[in-house]
Amino acid sequence: MLHKKVFNFSASQAMIPYPVLKQIKKDLLDWNNTKISVMEINHRSDYFVYIVESTKKYLRKLLNIPLNYKIIFCFGGARVQFSIIPINFIKSKFNSTDYINSGYWSNIAINEAKKYCIVNRIDVLYKENGLIKVHPMNNWLISNNSLYLHYCPNETVDGIYIDELPNFHNHVVVADCSSIILSRVLDISKFGLIYASTQKNIGLSGLTLLIIRDDLININKSNTIPSTFNYQYLVKYNSMFSTPPTFIWYVTNLMLKWLTKQGGLSKVEKINKTKSNILYKIIDNSNLYHNNISPKYRSYTNITFTLSNINLHKLFLKESHHAGFLNLSGHKAVGGIRISLYNSMPLIGVKKLAKFMYNFSTRYS
Ligand SMILES: *Cc1c(COP(=O)(O)O)cnc(C)c1O
Repeated sequence: MLHKKVFNFSASQAMIPYPVLKQIKKDLLDWNNTKISVMEINHRSDYFVYIVESTKKYLRKLLNIPLNYKIIFCFGGARVQFSIIPINFIKSKFNSTDYINSGYWSNIAINEAKKYCIVNRIDVLYKENGLIKVHPMNNWLISNNSLYLHYCPNETVDGIYIDELPNFHNHVVVADCSSIILSRVLDISKFGLIYASTQKNIGLSGLTLLIIRDDLININKSNTIPSTFNYQYLVKYNSMFSTPPTFIWYVTNLMLKWLTKQGGLSKVEKINKTKSNILYKIIDNSNLYHNNISPKYRSYTNITFTLSNINLHKLFLKESHHAGFLNLSGHKAVGGIRISLYNSMPLIGVKKLAKFMYNFSTRYS
């Protein structure tokens, strides 16, 4: 039996705020007095166009998106974009691209891109005094002739975060922001393309948000791009070239409305950093928990750690689950423990988990 009150710390599909769930429950039976379910709203109807336009408006306002950028919603997760980005951005398979390797997801993106173009792989992690660090951007060995540079500011699996913003002259920067989108203030103008799957901070799985600069929409002019993933078509048809996943869009709309109500991104960023600081403090002050990432490069959305005695992992997961803290298991590729703190996780959930972790450490260290 679980505690009545539980907190879901899953890396994905992440927690949805209670007011949003409540609204969904209501709209499932009758959306906005239409007498039909929100799931039945046709994407060509005025009702749905309203959801689309209001979603874009929220995004523009929250992220302060410049006018020379378009918003696209594309089928599938961020992983789909690992192939779709090179397909849209290259002119031939002999084109060169720069890919930064900083962990699990950026490495997968590299292996996918290699199918379509020449990839200059740039490893940016190193270890100093037993701590993982990231080379500063001006040390990244970027080639002169690459079409774009791809990197992942927050490695969701490893818990590694690159706070520095790109400033490369004339280089198109593509960023996989899946686990930090809308969790902080971000200067969009530093990027050519930002993409993020929606199941972490902005709703449900199966959809990816793209924010793309106008001059990058129509680079590959050959007709080899699958039409449904062609950025030019997605822009032209307002992301509805084929029937879109309307329910996911609708949930994203509610999430953005909720986020706006929280007071915008500078406020949310501050809370998010407070939340992660509380937990890193518990980790650093104990002999039981270990995080070997240099503090400057620690993720504030995905906190990874191990316990000194590996046999205690199972017990930690079992006890935390019984206490109502769900999904704390690390990604299967790295093991250990992972706490994901997206916007929806309230401060009280973090404080309660911190207390649990402190008590656990006094018992077992
Ligand atoms: C979750 C995640 C992905 C994969 O997203 P899917 O929706 O499963 O395709 C890719 N990159 C990052 C940084 C992620 O956090």
